[in-house]
Amino acid sequence: MAKPKVGVFGMTGCAGEQIVILNCEDELMDILKVLDIRSFHTAMSENDEQCDLDIAFVEGAVVQPEEEVWLKKIRKRSRLLIALGTCAVWGGVAAMKNEVSPQRLKDEVYGPRGQIFKSIPAQPLHSFVKVDFSVSGCPIEKEQFLQAIASLVHGDIPVLPKYAVCTECKLNENTCLLVEKSELCLGPITVAGCNARCLSYGIPCCGCRGPVEEANIASEVEILKEKGFTLGDIRNQLRTYAAPAEVLQTYFTKR
Ligand code: SF4
Ligand code: SF4
Ligand code: SF4
Repeated sequence: MAKPKVGVFGMTGCAGEQIVILNCEDELMDILKVLDIRSFHTAMSENDEQCDLDIAFVEGAVVQPEEEVWLKKIRKRSRLLIALGTCAVWGGVAAMKNEVSPQRLKDEVYGPRGQIFKSIPAQPLHSFVKVDFSVSGCPIEKEQFLQAIASLVHGDIPVLPKYAVCTECKLNENTCLLVEKSELCLGPITVAGCNARCLSYGIPCCGCRGPVEEANIASEVEILKEKGFTLGDIRNQLRTYAAPAEVLQTYFTKR
């Protein structure tokens, strides 16, 4: 059986997902045995930009106008398009720029000698093209990526957790930082898959994996308010990674 032809692409982001893939040191040779990687700019000097692909893995948010064109081209040549990482799935860190003017952003990051580059509001891939499957995380978990490859090469759609980080946190028998210590923890509305990594170190979850399906944001906000957090504190934490802009707008503008 021919190996699936694969491309790994990066829109605007920190290349974290591509680094996770390259960090699969023990598994890289096995990955190459089952995938025919045709394009992977971070890892290869010769890339095929024209061939049809079975799977395109795409990291990062769409921020530059040319990325929209590029993403649509990738979609056209790929049977499956998989979004990798919270930026690609939700807009992530890149989407924080949407609330700050380009001028202020430039001044604060680069100072007076910086340059403003042409950009559009940062958006996840699904705002522009059909996404067949998403693996979130900032960055993705290596095990979930390997699991996704194993399923895809067998013709299956990967199965990832659909429950919240709280479930993993409870299974690890951690003390609840929200209930017991009144800390701003987004575990109840964040999708699991990291084995509640931060909580196991006593650090509250800041939601880096993005929202769980049917996240009850209203209830989370009410609990956090009861714990003494302001709407500003809560909004800042939510928007850091993944609360979709429409959730923030609908929830926070009506009160
Ligand atoms: S999701 Fe996180 S690791 Fe991935 S590109 Fe965005 S900022 Fe980087
Ligand atoms: S500490 Fe956070 S993730 Fe853990 S159970 Fe409490 S709210 Fe959920
Ligand atoms: S506990 Fe929360 S912030 Fe930490 S890795 Fe998991 S999802 Fe991300």
